[in-house]
Amino acid sequence: MKNSYDVIIVGAATAGSYFANKLAKEGISVLVIDSKPEEKIGTKYDIFHVGREDFDKFGIPWPVKGEDYAFEFDSTHVCSAFGNHPKYSPGKVVGMHMHDYTLRLNRWAQQAGAEIAYETAFKSCIYENGKITGVTCVRNGEELEIKAKLVADCSGIPSVVRRSLPDNYGVETFEIDPTDMFYVVLRYISFTNPDDKMNLRSWPFYKTWEAPQHNPDGAILGIGANLSFDMCEKVYKEFESAVNLTPHKIDYFERGFTPYRRPPYSLVSDSFVALGDSACITKPSCGEGVTAAMVQMDAVLEVVIPLIKSGKQLSRENLWPINKKYIDAQGADFANQMAVLIGAVASSAEENEYFFENDLIFSTKNFIAMGEGGMPRFSIGEILTMAYRFIKGIVTGKLRISTILALLKAVMNGGKISGHYKKFPTTPAGFDKWCAKADIIWKKCGKMADMVSDK
Ligand SMILES: Cc1cc2nc3c(=O)[nH]c(=O)nc-3n(C[C@H](O)[C@H](O)[C@H](O)COP(=O)(O)OP(=O)(O)OC[C@H]3O[C@@H](n4cnc5c(N)ncnc54)[C@H](O)[C@@H]3O)c2cc1C
Repeated sequence: MKNSYDVIIVGAATAGSYFANKLAKEGISVLVIDSKPEEKIGTKYDIFHVGREDFDKFGIPWPVKGEDYAFEFDSTHVCSAFGNHPKYSPGKVVGMHMHDYTLRLNRWAQQAGAEIAYETAFKSCIYENGKITGVTCVRNGEELEIKAKLVADCSGIPSVVRRSLPDNYGVETFEIDPTDMFYVVLRYISFTNPDDKMNLRSWPFYKTWEAPQHNPDGAILGIGANLSFDMCEKVYKEFESAVNLTPHKIDYFERGFTPYRRPPYSLVSDSFVALGDSACITKPSCGEGVTAAMVQMDAVLEVVIPLIKSGKQLSRENLWPINKKYIDAQGADFANQMAVLIGAVASSAEENEYFFENDLIFSTKNFIAMGEGGMPRFSIGEILTMAYRFIKGIVTGKLRISTILALLKAVMNGGKISGHYKKFPTTPAGFDKWCAKADIIWKKCGKMADMVSDK
């Protein structure tokens, strides 16, 4: 380990490895530090999913059968609160073992020239004239000072670097607290009858899903909920009593968290960038973050690589275009989705059933658009048909007016917040004013956790 690098990345999991590889490939000197020993890297949980097309899109290595590869599937079905009206949701997905795949990404980063220091914990940033010039870290009880032009926070939910910044540094230092996360519980199950097979399904009303695992005679029954693991169990009980699940026994549980909140308004400041979970870059439709972070990091790389190569400073002003690039790449669409989904969960189980039955909100068209990170576009004819079905629902007593109003409000909020994001200031001037307005709109949107606690 040297005492100076172009870039120091804190966190050697999926985000840290991706960023390291792409920088090192360009001849940029990179050190990645992680507080964990190598054998514990990527051990938060086992099975995770990546879209098949994402391997080529991001140029990431393919998993290998018998090592990190677990399974593949082509599509899933999305079901109503009572397990009816399955809607086809396409999408080719590869399932992998998180630990083994993360180590593959670590090797991939090292092969490109990045150094990885395991068991090396970030302690604090070093500042000169109020600007970051490196980090202090602890290795084998010894405190080390390492200089860098850029410090990238890839430390996941603890967001250790971002949260250590001074309040006025230009990036929000919020903690990702229980109202800002999905608690995820995975039940690894085996079917009681060996002839039974896994059905790829999900039930958005409970935020539950049935998906494959490495044991072909079993499945994963997953649930995500705001606030706590207790909330997961409470909702899971309702789910089990409303939906017919294939008879099974639970082999073991896994539990974890994924961020569910808006990212910091600015992802950058002087010699600093927040990436991946530490910047709350997860898909609002499912909480997945591995490739969502790669979209973000591609926007960061477009700015950072030329700056470093041309010897320019990685100042807040020079890094600023990253914010706009990220918003254009997916940030505005994610903000829209997040606001709309808050309204979409404000229905009862019976209303959810009506939505599915009548192709309202929960339709294949919506799932395709959300899966691609965007929002669906409807023709006038489709809008009129939907309006008729909403009115019919109210007239027949199957939908409450309050539910429709909540939905309309959510759709309008989604439009407002994404519209505001598209007006993100091109320089730090005007940022405070932009944030003040964004705060007002997000306040109107509310939070997914508020909807859960209100139910
Ligand atoms: C149960 C579950 C299932 C999920 N399934 C999927 C899925 O199928 N697909 C998907 O895309 N996403 C999924 N997600 C979300 C996904 O796991 C995360 O978005 C992603 O792993 C975040 O990666 P990261 O590199 O940003 O952070 P992390 O993976 O959290 O890595 C952070 C790294 O920083 C290190 N670190 C922390 N503090 C310090 C410190 N002080 N000093 C040095 N290093 C430090 C940690 O040791 C860790 O290695 C799931 C999440 C959960 C909980």
